[in-house]
Amino acid sequence: MSESKPLDPLEVRRDFPIFSTSGTESSPLIYLDSGASAQKPQVVIDRESEVYERFYANAYRGVYRFGNLIDEAIEDSRATVCDFIGAASADEIVFTSGTTMSINLVAQGWGRKFLKPGDEILLNPLEHHANIVPWQMAAQATGAVIRWMSLTDSGCLDLDRLDDVLTPRTRIVPVTGMSNVLGTLPPIREIAARAHAVGALVMVDGAQSVPHGPVHVRDDQIDFLTFSGHKLYGPSAIGVLYGRQDLLEAMDPAFGGGHMIDQVTMEGSTWAAPPARFEAGTLPIAQAIGLKTAIDYVRPFGWEAIHAHDRALLAAAHQELSIIPGVRILGPDVSRKGAIVSFVVEGAAAQDVAMLLDRKGICVRHGHHCAMPLHSLLGIAASVRASFGIYNTLDDVTALAEGLRYVRKRLRLDAAD
Ligand code: PMP
Repeated sequence: MSESKPLDPLEVRRDFPIFSTSGTESSPLIYLDSGASAQKPQVVIDRESEVYERFYANAYRGVYRFGNLIDEAIEDSRATVCDFIGAASADEIVFTSGTTMSINLVAQGWGRKFLKPGDEILLNPLEHHANIVPWQMAAQATGAVIRWMSLTDSGCLDLDRLDDVLTPRTRIVPVTGMSNVLGTLPPIREIAARAHAVGALVMVDGAQSVPHGPVHVRDDQIDFLTFSGHKLYGPSAIGVLYGRQDLLEAMDPAFGGGHMIDQVTMEGSTWAAPPARFEAGTLPIAQAIGLKTAIDYVRPFGWEAIHAHDRALLAAAHQELSIIPGVRILGPDVSRKGAIVSFVVEGAAAQDVAMLLDRKGICVRHGHHCAMPLHSLLGIAASVRASFGIYNTLDDVTALAEGLRYVRKRLRLDAAD
């Protein structure tokens, strides 16, 4: 972890135009939904505009000047992603439209080719639907079986019981780097080591964890890593699939079309080498280029400073919310979670809570957060989620606590206090 100066969120906010266009000093925008999608700094917005204004062309198609400039910028971004996640080669970086597409690529390109009847996919109840449904589809197509890890009472993976479900039949362990509901941080290195010991691969859904990093695919022994640009202060519609080179080379494409082929004849086609094999059709061009700008923007803050900032917000949120009657925080204590706090307000529907908080300028997410199995395990239909980014302040947390007191008052839940 690099040495870094403390992160000053008030300074950071000045980089993000939305805070000046949508809020005022006396009534600031309180954006607590970065887990759904992060806001964009001006440099990312400018870079995307610059691509359209100055040198736009399709990628990997034209030998004219703009075509070359676009290709260079995309390859530069691929190299930046490679370095950012500690991959061995930029050829291991596939651009996709986001985490969902990246996971589907693994489930189809690897799963449909290599899974056999009776093989096992080891999931766990923390996963987002994006890391459940593609595996259910792959299992259905191949005859593979899905098994489930159990959770501890506090919402962590129960690794004491991992050997009950991790067996020589396990072929892959798709696991989140950070739960998008409970914030739980599974110990990826331990899971990878234990999975590899039985011959299974590990695919990390880094949608939530990568923006709060660091992730180093080689040190962490991750076989596949997926993440989305839009949660990393980058453009939407761009995502990454990292795959170890030998794995990508062995995989079939999930989508056919332009750019992903070697030869096409009337009889059939052969595939280009990775990453092109998995990038059928026109890439999200400006977005792929803007992703590099986002990474170059975030990295200099340093993971140490980002962690310290996350921890301060989390600690404050746990402290301030836990003393409000009827507010129940879900998941583990702050030492085992990332920058997410989900909770229920007893007696109030999650949607009502979110709508009333909006009246105070507070943006939170409500619902099942694409994690229905987890919510049914917790015995609730929905929850409210506050998730933090580098621009959030301790005042945002205090505003949330005050907002929740207002919600309880409006819904007359405070009568019994
Ligand atoms: N996995 C997790 C843990 C997520 O939080 C999300 C986004 N909510 C996804 C996958 C899906 O990401 P995307 O919608 O960018 O494909």
